[in-house]
Amino acid sequence: MTHIIDGKQVAATVIDAVQQAASDLERTKGVRAGLAVVIVGDDPASHSYVGAKGRMAKECGFNSLQHTLPAQTTQGELAGLVASLNQDTSIHGILVQLPLPKHLDADAIIQSIRPEKDVDGLHVVNAGKLATGDLATGLISCTPAGAMLLVRSIHGGDLSGLMAVVIGRSNLFGKPMAQLLLNANATVMTAHSRTKDLASVARGADILVAAVGRPEMVKADWVKPGATVIDVGINRIDAPERGDGKTTRLVGDVSYAEASGVAGAITLVPGGVGPMTIAMLMANTITAAYRLNGLSSPSF
Ligand code: NAP
Repeated sequence: MTHIIDGKQVAATVIDAVQQAASDLERTKGVRAGLAVVIVGDDPASHSYVGAKGRMAKECGFNSLQHTLPAQTTQGELAGLVASLNQDTSIHGILVQLPLPKHLDADAIIQSIRPEKDVDGLHVVNAGKLATGDLATGLISCTPAGAMLLVRSIHGGDLSGLMAVVIGRSNLFGKPMAQLLLNANATVMTAHSRTKDLASVARGADILVAAVGRPEMVKADWVKPGATVIDVGINRIDAPERGDGKTTRLVGDVSYAEASGVAGAITLVPGGVGPMTIAMLMANTITAAYRLNGLSSPSF
């Protein structure tokens, strides 16, 4: 029978460990982990994500700060705030919510965050550490780090002999995911919009990870029987059939109805990778707080 990988449950285990580590840090060093989240403008989806991150940070026992800046904030003002957070010893994690308004240079802002406080794992120093196989001192992008824990929940930490295919090559997800799988000894292929015969490439995977942004693109005949399928996509589609006052629903990049009949293990959308992203943000923040206080960080 197909195993449904429960992202909520794995995320809850991570949060338990973070809470324990946060209370140990406060008890032994008198240090409260601090997470600063910066949001510019009034995009409702971004505000909802930031609100959820702030609530979870509080649940973890962190000092949770939100800086809400108006849409017309200048590059200089935002850079100034990041510079002051870089200096602030009570802040261990800095997250600038993306996307930023179009007049701002998001990459310059992200690269100005001190890498030790870059809890989104997007700074080139952190991306470079992952690319060179240093998983011990950098901070890893939250969604791939979370997806990797879901893979580990099925296969353990050593993926020797397994073929992994990641569909998508973004800096945010596809590339770091491929590197994490490679680090765990999988044989890895990264597919993208220029890949020829994607269905047959996907069918070769023991571990198939889809991060594309195309609703239900992965069909039953893309999945090797018994494979582990990790669906990263979050797509809102019309669903007039719901009839409960709601006219849309969320689906992944994988047709769950089709693929769940073939896969050995599969994630749900929602309730799969999504909850892992926020849990790994908390894990990165406590990791940063330990390191910035000269302690070896807990592992997750
Ligand atoms: P992205 O930056 O838009 O990258 C999408 C990737 O998919 C690109 O590499 C693109 O290839 C590839 N692609 C597009 N169309 C394709 C096709 N027809 N066949 C094969 N590959 C195709 O997106 P992202 O940021 O990586 O996110 C991907 C999905 O994950 C989105 O649905 C997003 O909402 C979701 N996501 C979820 C979480 C979470 O917390 N669960 C976090 C982040 C993202 P090219 O490079 O060739 O254009």
